[in-house]
Amino acid sequence: MNSFSNRPPWSARTATALGIDLGGTRLKIGLVESTGRLLLMKKFPTRVQVGREALIKRIIGLTASFLNDPRCAAHPPRVIGLGAAGLIDIRKGVVEISPNFPDWQQVPLGRRLQDALGITTFLDNDANAVTFGEKWAGAGQDLQHFACLTLGTGVGGGLILGGRLWYGSHGSGPEIGHMTIKPRGERCRCGNRGCLETLASATWLVQNYKKIKNIEQIEYETAPPATRPQATLTAKDLFHLARQGEPHSLRLFKQMGEALGLALANLVHLLSLEGIILGGGLSRAATIFLPYLEKEFKKRLTLISPERVHLRISSLQEKSGVIGAAGLALERAGRRNPLN
Ligand SMILES: [Zn+2]
Repeated sequence: MNSFSNRPPWSARTATALGIDLGGTRLKIGLVESTGRLLLMKKFPTRVQVGREALIKRIIGLTASFLNDPRCAAHPPRVIGLGAAGLIDIRKGVVEISPNFPDWQQVPLGRRLQDALGITTFLDNDANAVTFGEKWAGAGQDLQHFACLTLGTGVGGGLILGGRLWYGSHGSGPEIGHMTIKPRGERCRCGNRGCLETLASATWLVQNYKKIKNIEQIEYETAPPATRPQATLTAKDLFHLARQGEPHSLRLFKQMGEALGLALANLVHLLSLEGIILGGGLSRAATIFLPYLEKEFKKRLTLISPERVHLRISSLQEKSGVIGAAGLALERAGRRNPLN
């Protein structure tokens, strides 16, 4: 009897990596093969409120359980890649500060996972992971110079320039969400006024809607409908309202589209980009805001033909962070360079 007869064709020679996407709301863990194919993914609530130490233990515990899943154990990952929001020291594997985790300062998250699980772990910024994922296996495979924006709780961004992820001088990549779009706008959580994030993120859409409607008792929650209190409002609700023609939500999506169009025209002028990829949960509302984005983009982009710039929605969607984190880990481990 041939002992290899039940083995899938990729299992014998293809390396795998674990990708972890640590968001403020959800923690996603996935097993990814070195071709960029996602073999298995699980999602969990992050539970930021449990506090730093308990959360680190939770991440370690959930990752250990994932590794023990027979479907994962059959293809044990060589490395782990973890994407987290915030300023990340990628060489040391340290989260310096993170907007999602206010009590995290100088947390050696990469080292903690590596020591607990015995697998080499690489930490990176979550938007960088998403951007890398789109270049490696998503909507940016054919592009050499593009920006990827993640529209979610905040606005994250990454850049591929000359086919490579761009880290800049501080080692954490660009902060596209904190470009000033409206100089006298709302005070952003970063301290500045009128950042792109205050006009184009789920958090701010809901906050601005509540302000318009004078709703004070409703707390913003991003938890899934089954687990959140009834009196909460999400960006998804606003999307449904806008689709029904509700004027206040429509106005906010218009403002969001125009802010993005302005920001993207600036980026394209500055970097001569050939493409823009929009990802994150809020990119699903593109049917509402995209016409406003395109109109503003064309109006502001005067020296480069807008027709030459590919504007795309993420093809990997919620898988991009996991796939990208795994790909970055494989690249950094030097076992394989997915982009070359
Ligand atoms: Zn800001």
